[in-house]
This record gives sequence, C-alpha cells and structure tokens, in this order.
Amino acid sequence: MGGLNAVWRMALLAAVLSASASAAVPGTERETRRIQDAPRTLVIDAGHGGADGGAVSESGLRESEVNLDVALRLYYLVAFLGERAVLTRDGEDIRYSPDAVTIRDKKRDDMKSRLRVLHAAENPVLVSVHQNKYDSPRPSGAQVIYAPDDASRLLGETMQNALTDALGRGNRQGAARDDGGIYLLNNAGCPAILIECGFLSNPEEEALLHTEGYRIKLAAAISAGLRR
Ligand SMILES: [Zn+2]
Repeated sequence: MGGLNAVWRMALLAAVLSASASAAVPGTERETRRIQDAPRTLVIDAGHGGADGGAVSESGLRESEVNLDVALRLYYLVAFLGERAVLTRDGEDIRYSPDAVTIRDKKRDDMKSRLRVLHAAENPVLVSVHQNKYDSPRPSGAQVIYAPDDASRLLGETMQNALTDALGRGNRQGAARDDGGIYLLNNAGCPAILIECGFLSNPEEEALLHTEGYRIKLAAAISAGLRR
C-alpha cells in the first residue's frame, strides 16, 4: 500500500467519479430503494490466492496478486468513506483444512470458507475481483458478471457502466449473467457480482495492471459504481 497519500488520492478520485455518476437506471428505482433500505456490508473477495494463483500474464504478473491489491485498495477506500466492508482474504497465503490435499480439494475448501465470510456478514453485497485472460491479445476492458437474480443484474449493469465511464475501456460484450458456473455467485444468496477488471492477455492493459495508478483507478471506479 502507498500509505496515506494513496488513500487521499483514492478518495479524491472516488469523489470525482461519484459526482459524475448519472441518475438511476429508469424503471429500477424501487429495486434501488429496497437494496438501500438497511446498511449494507460490502464483502470484497480477492479472487484466487494460496495454491491457486489464477491466470498469469506473459511477463509473469499473477492474477491473485493484482486481485488482492485492488481488493485491499477498495477495502480501505470504502472504509474511508464510512461504509462497512469485509475481505474474504487479506494476504496471499490461505490456510486450508488438513483434509484438503489436492488442488481441487483446496479450491473447494477455500470457496466454502469464503462463503462462510459472506454468510456471516449483515445484509451483504458481494464484489469478487478478478482479471481476465484470453487466447488472443485483442480483447480488453472490464467486464462484470452478475448472479442470476434481479438485484445482482441491477448492480452488475450499474457497475459495468461505472467502469466503462471511469476507465474508458469498456468490454464490448457488456455486463453478463452467470450461467451457473461461478460457485460464489450462485451460492451467494445476496446481490453478487464478479468483476473481470482487465485482460492479462492484452499487452496494453497488462502494462496498466502493473501500475499503482491504474489499480487505484480500478478501486475508485468500483467504489463509484457501488455508490451509484
Ligand atoms: Zn480469476
């Protein structure tokens, strides 16, 4: 972390981004109000970690490391703005149950403990932070995947717009509904989204993802999306 200076820069960015936020999506005011009724707890999930490094870029940048850095910045920013947040992990090491031997067992064990953190949170909203990778270097831009329910769709579409506006690097596919393949989204039981912040396979975006500035920008853009 870059210390106080970075916190201030993030807060400034968030203020600028939320000031530029557009009005609520037409026809969804009622849903928005319902979600905002009780104080939420933002559950920030840094994807992968421990035995599972996630995707790795050609230059060796690990997805788990980028996810954690962006998640921590988002956590500090949200806390700075006076909102409740918890992290499903705050380091690269993950303690597994002694029964979990294979990577597959470890991943399953890890997912279950992340879900316990989520279910222990009061009025939770899940934001899982990931990076994308593709066979071709061409695709770029952030993409939001949402759990298959209305509240998650509203959050997902709002977040996609916020990211596209803030980063100027929208993914042309837009926000997408999860088809049931993402364990955390499908077992969340609350508004839940997964953000693929950028492509480790796109050279320009990979270079950005190395930098503190772009990671701050991502955290601020996600925070602004939540405030919308
Ligand atoms: Zn991932």
